[in-house]
Amino acid sequence: MKRSILPLLCCPVCKGDLIVTVTEGDEEVIREGILHCPICRVDYPVEDGIPDLLPRAPSE
Ligand SMILES: [Zn+2]
Repeated sequence: MKRSILPLLCCPVCKGDLIVTVTEGDEEVIREGILHCPICRVDYPVEDGIPDLLPRAPSE
């Protein structure tokens, strides 16, 4: 996924902003990482450049 689409992404549950943590990628592209919703306290993974924004249970 391109970093440029980050402002368009939001949490599917609360529609809040997501905090991105990139584990693999560069300034333009995110290949692996985590999109975290601080309101729901849920992590959404980015795998092979594809963000998985399906609603899920908190990781606690
Ligand atoms: Zn949320």
